[in-house]
Amino acid sequence: MPEQKSSSVPWYPVSRRRFLAAGAGAVVAGGVVSGCAHGPKMPGTTPKEQAQYQDHPNGLSRCGLCKHYIPNNGCEVVAGPVSPDGWCRFYALF
Ligand code: SF4
Repeated sequence: MPEQKSSSVPWYPVSRRRFLAAGAGAVVAGGVVSGCAHGPKMPGTTPKEQAQYQDHPNGLSRCGLCKHYIPNNGCEVVAGPVSPDGWCRFYALF
């Protein structure tokens, strides 16, 4: 049972340095588990015709805003170069 100080919050004998080091480790581990765990995006193989790709935006939707877009002219769904101003039916906002 941890020692109690005058307040109702339990007091644990952990130094500030150890507490901060543990927090930094948790942040790094969280980054590895979340976004950083994904590898680089690989180019897709879906033909442009099948994706109904067009080289102009669909309203405000365009490749440059799509989560599948690989800068500067790639896509992890559609094969071949795509324009940042293009669009296809697999568009997904990131
Ligand atoms: S809109 Fe289509 S072609 Fe453009 S990046 Fe997204 S998935 Fe690829």
